[in-house]
Amino acid sequence: MLESSVSGTRLEPLAPQLTPLMPEFLADIELETAPKAKTLAEREMRTDVLIIGAGPTGLACAIEAQKIGLKVIVLEKGCLVNSLFHYPANMVFFTTPELLEIGDIPFTTAQQKPTREEALEYYRKVAEHYALDVRQYEWVKTVVGEDGDFSITATDRAGRPHDYHTKKVIVATGYYDLSNKLGIPGEELPKVSHYYGEPHPYYDTDVLVIGGKNSAAIAALDLWRHGARVTLVHREAQLHHHVKYWIKPDLENRIKSGEIEAYFNSWVQEIGVDHVVINTPRGPVRLKNDFVLAMIGYHPDYDFLRSMGIELSGQQNRPVCDPVSLESNVKGIYVAGVIVAGSRTNEIFIENGRFHGKQIAADLKLKLKP
Ligand code: FAD
Ligand code: NAP
Repeated sequence: MLESSVSGTRLEPLAPQLTPLMPEFLADIELETAPKAKTLAEREMRTDVLIIGAGPTGLACAIEAQKIGLKVIVLEKGCLVNSLFHYPANMVFFTTPELLEIGDIPFTTAQQKPTREEALEYYRKVAEHYALDVRQYEWVKTVVGEDGDFSITATDRAGRPHDYHTKKVIVATGYYDLSNKLGIPGEELPKVSHYYGEPHPYYDTDVLVIGGKNSAAIAALDLWRHGARVTLVHREAQLHHHVKYWIKPDLENRIKSGEIEAYFNSWVQEIGVDHVVINTPRGPVRLKNDFVLAMIGYHPDYDFLRSMGIELSGQQNRPVCDPVSLESNVKGIYVAGVIVAGSRTNEIFIENGRFHGKQIAADLKLKLKP
């Protein structure tokens, strides 16, 4: 099912090279390399700073904390920069490469804007350059304790628990794992996804795209260009003005020419196995349908933040924190990256979230005196 492909646990089939299964003739090579790798029992489980999430922000935090002499462990439930890995396969970033840089490592790209592939390569190289202790496929489930003495439990790909101890915690868990919901009948059908990967599986099918911002616009155009019959539904009167200037007119022209059908001021009422019902200003419309892409945004894991005692303020669920140090209302727990904006996920992105590492490191320097 496309929908849950973003979760850490669903990654196992995507990473077969990480399983111990390998031909017997490779056994010698395995023996040669085994002593170099740290076995599970030897791994250090005690640290100064434990960072939850190896997104661009978590990595930036790790680099800055390491630079001031602190011992850092990063726990990541999926792969390195897991969210970026799950972005549309052929995605080109809106941001120019220098604005995605962390740890003062230059990011150069062949074209003006980086591709997803280039970004993955860049962050791999940065992690390698700084020899960051990133433990992939370890999903943090609980954080308990107090400033200077936190206990953290994470489960690995096999569901085995691992206990860590740390003086300080930085939470940089992003928002891409939890999609916003429509709350309508049929949303849980396997043909419905909140994530767009690539167009090929949708060739010669009827696809409904929901939403009026960048993800919806890009998916609608890409699907149409690769042979899908696309209908767009948006609850507003027109596409959002935040849709990039090189995408918006392209989509508007496809709609004007009737190549992509669009319903504005409309919302989906029901999703069936072979159809959808849309409420339009002219009354309900029933359409034949094979797939629904609900590109309606994402939100941070509020329950996880609350489970640590972090208070969320106002309607936007912003974590209560010091705006300079980013230390939350729970002493010793810092928040970083897009989660700092709560539901206003368009306020913090890689471009500005990457500076949170320096802010937090400045405070850690005062408090831990490394
Ligand atoms: P993330 O990158 O989401 O990283 C959080 C990490 O935490 C993830 O790897 C996740 O697996 C991990 N995690 C979560 N929970 C746990 C747990 N309990 N235990 C262990 N690990 C956990 N921004 C830009 O600046 N420029 C762009 O061009 C741009 N393009 C985008 C395109 C798309 C399609 C989308 C959806 C977003 C785009 N953004 C862009 C926004 C940007 O990607 C995010 O704002 C950014 O990734 C946030 O960084 P982060 O480190 O805070 O979170
Ligand atoms: P988004 O910006 O949050 O937009 C969500 C859209 O869905 C909005 O149009 C919203 O309507 C609509 N919506 C929300 N809830 C809804 C509901 N319950 N029913 C119907 N419609 C609903 O999400 P996004 O487009 O996925 O973008 C997420 C982030 O990724 C943004 O930061 C964006 O800039 C970034 N992005 C970058 C790239 C790139 O770099 N190449 C590509 C795509 C996205 P309203 O308009 O009424 O709010």
